[in-house]
Amino acid sequence: MRLPIYLDYAATTPVDPRVAALLGRHLTRDGVFGNPSSTTHIFGRQAAQAIETARNQAAALINANPQEIIWTSGATEANNLALIGAMRAQARRGQHLLTSKTEHKAVLDVCRWLERNGCTVTYLDPGPDGRIPLERVAAALRPDTVLVSLMCVNNETGVIHELAAIGALTRERGILLHTDAAQSAGKLPIDLQTLPIDLLSLSAHKMYGPKGIGALYVRQRPVRVRLEPLLYGGGQERGLRAGTLPAHQIAAMGEACRIAHSEMDAEQTRIRQLRDQLWQAFTRLDAVELNGHPQQNIAGILNVSFTGIAAEALLAAVPDIAISMGSACTSASYEPSHVLRAMGIDEIRARGAIRFSLGRFTTVEDINYTVHAVTAAVNRLRELSPLWEDHQRGVKTEVD
Ligand SMILES: *Cc1c(COP(=O)(O)O)cnc(C)c1O
Repeated sequence: MRLPIYLDYAATTPVDPRVAALLGRHLTRDGVFGNPSSTTHIFGRQAAQAIETARNQAAALINANPQEIIWTSGATEANNLALIGAMRAQARRGQHLLTSKTEHKAVLDVCRWLERNGCTVTYLDPGPDGRIPLERVAAALRPDTVLVSLMCVNNETGVIHELAAIGALTRERGILLHTDAAQSAGKLPIDLQTLPIDLLSLSAHKMYGPKGIGALYVRQRPVRVRLEPLLYGGGQERGLRAGTLPAHQIAAMGEACRIAHSEMDAEQTRIRQLRDQLWQAFTRLDAVELNGHPQQNIAGILNVSFTGIAAEALLAAVPDIAISMGSACTSASYEPSHVLRAMGIDEIRARGAIRFSLGRFTTVEDINYTVHAVTAAVNRLRELSPLWEDHQRGVKTEVD
């Protein structure tokens, strides 16, 4: 076992060595370094070929057609292109967008911008288990709704949303459905031949690829989704995303998709066992709560609150374990997570929430060490905690 232990795979993953090796072969003079648009010579054609191979690999992961993959700089850009691009392209049909309060900031912030620019957005509340009830989606759809954006798997709780059923509602009404699949691609089977999803965002660095590359799936059949581009320039990616394609990043993402596709089942089974082992050990402590859905969840994420303990105190008490409170993007501020608050979780419990996220390189030894270190830290911190004393005496504590 190697310290420190990394249990923050939902924030980012290390690049798989097989992916890193391939990336390195697309940079230097003795490798594939050409501009993929320079198809008059072999250097450019080799780079273009590498990109098409990767496009096939990304498409295969989600059972899409390769022409439906548009390379972007990551899931953030893919979300921006999907939401802004679709709302602009459909401006004449309607300007209402439906989403949820538990989305990643890379969707919520785009929605705020859209609201300042003529769109109306409805933010749905999840149930206490983090799932968006289907009836709430159905009830919130309006005659002028043109787009629904709901994530596939939540990055803080690991909860899996009911996209097949939600897609049936939107498809029936001719409304587009976008999903941010940054946390699910490569971890859950996604079949776009059967799922009624029109736009889907991917990020390489959540599945053992490099940062700074991702993709947007844009459905072409049975109906071609129309988008306004955000960037104008050399007309790359069918005019939807201008800019010289980063062949090294794209080839690496393709390889990451290929590996995830072929190893998904075995990998998820192994990670789920480790995650369950961690949760079982925590349940031996008093007053530990699971934040999220007990069954409909992704294998690699465990979000728990230890009553009486603030997350930052626990993080400080186990400095050789990399875990996070809430999501990495908000941990700069001490605001309790917007996701947990939307689920109706009270402030004290939300402030104590810790996310453990496991992945490809997590070992049994990592989990054993974590169980011992966290259990000892929780017991020690509780001895010092007035909140815990109140809890044991049955006093309900109010915070302001
Ligand atoms: C990580 C993440 C993003 C951001 O992806 P980038 O590729 O870093 O832009 C968006 N949505 C979700 C759900 C994520 O987990």
